Amino acid sequence: MDNGVLDDPRGMFRTKLFVLPVNEAFLVHNPLDGIASLLNASALKALRRRMATTVQDPSLSAELAGLADLLLRAPAGPPSLEGPLNPLFLGLLTTRRCNCNCVYCDFEAGKEAASEMSPAAAVAALTWYADFLKDAGLGHMEVHFFGGEPLVSREVIETAVHRSRLLVDRHGMSLHLEVSTNGIFGEEYARFVGDYFHAVVLSLDGFREIHDRHRPVSAGRGSFSSARQTASLLSQSPTELCLRCCVSNLNIDRLEEIAAWFCEEFQPSVINFEPLTNNPKAATAGLLPPNPYVFAERFAKARAVAARYGIKAVYAATEGEPSHTSFCPVGKDALIVSPDGRVSSCYLPRKAWVERGLDMEVGRLLEREAGPGGIQVDPEAIARLRGLARDKPRCKRCFCQWVCSGGCHVHHSYPGSSLAYEPFCIQTRLLSACRLLEDMNLSHVADTLLADPKAMEALALHPSDRFDLAE
Ligand code: SF4
Ligand code: SF4
Ligand code: SF4
Repeated sequence: MDNGVLDDPRGMFRTKLFVLPVNEAFLVHNPLDGIASLLNASALKALRRRMATTVQDPSLSAELAGLADLLLRAPAGPPSLEGPLNPLFLGLLTTRRCNCNCVYCDFEAGKEAASEMSPAAAVAALTWYADFLKDAGLGHMEVHFFGGEPLVSREVIETAVHRSRLLVDRHGMSLHLEVSTNGIFGEEYARFVGDYFHAVVLSLDGFREIHDRHRPVSAGRGSFSSARQTASLLSQSPTELCLRCCVSNLNIDRLEEIAAWFCEEFQPSVINFEPLTNNPKAATAGLLPPNPYVFAERFAKARAVAARYGIKAVYAATEGEPSHTSFCPVGKDALIVSPDGRVSSCYLPRKAWVERGLDMEVGRLLEREAGPGGIQVDPEAIARLRGLARDKPRCKRCFCQWVCSGGCHVHHSYPGSSLAYEPFCIQTRLLSACRLLEDMNLSHVADTLLADPKAMEALALHPSDRFDLAE
């Protein structure tokens, strides 16, 4: 402070306070402390004046003075990256094999060496995890299954499910088992999954003609019938069903219809719409990511349709709680065990992140000849990944930096990626702003924004959202 002028010594305004144009107004937002306010240009100017000086302005409204005081109050600062290991979940990547052949698959199904996890390895990882939780005084076991298609490894799945139940019984813990699947399996297995898993993320990309173009089993044979039957069976089971719909140029114009159909036929707990990630294999098959402005607008409409059924539709990059160290499991100490014993925080094949100059490995599963082994965690790797989202040059000026946190580290914000906002940023920035406005009971402002291409562009491409006292 000098002559009554604040100079932001804590860097608070740079890291915590943002302002962005919304239609003719401005959204002032402090994500870490949950403060947001929509102001017109003159109110914003008055707010800046009040915040830049200690001299009181008697003409300032009580509301603006209150907002200024709130924003100036000593901030808690960015979330700490310190602290003991606290895994978001234990992931078991049971196999890289898959019984489907999706045109946009980037899991390189079946192509990694040692692509099958043994039941003994699953037991070793689970036993270590339960012991770790007990020693750490944590009472909840969270286990997620990935692939390939994880459910093709039935022996490992059944072993892991039953062993998890035994371990939580033994230690007096709660349990959450979750699997991401394509739903291509028979009725009896679907009933087992519905009975034993607490949540199932099932990929269903819309109606038959769309789903089968996106997700063929083989040339001329789609996976729609199986996926739909599984979705139906799961919807009648105790599990929480999440339908995940990949959005491309093929289904972007039908999101509202798809949302209504999902809600009527399957009554899922949640619907997750995610745009296709650009990839050459999909492009060759004629599938392209949707235009990000169109995606934002259609997603908002589909979400409104789902809301009428009391069902939540989400776009993942806007869903986290502010202050997360990352949008995804990376940075949250997730321990995902691969069939070859590597433990990483990203479920993609190693090759995918190595090609982007990233190292997602955080440990190794040690199996012993006699008795269970355990996971050897590398604390330095955990610390490195916790800090990954803090270091994204493009994100430092973006109001989404504490929720989206760079999006997918492999696809969206890898080292050397462009400094310019990319399509992912455009839809994320628009939908994050809409979410804030809706939380403020200003849905009509969000609707106006999404109906005006110029306003959308002004917000989406706003060069820097950092709140600057001097402007
Ligand atoms: S179901 Fe998943 S792993 Fe299998 S081909 Fe499709 S995207 Fe790839
Ligand atoms: S710049 Fe893009 S990737 Fe970074 S936080 Fe913003 S929306 Fe996410
Ligand atoms: S880095 Fe990307 S692919 Fe890996 S876990 Fe995170 S969001 Fe998923």
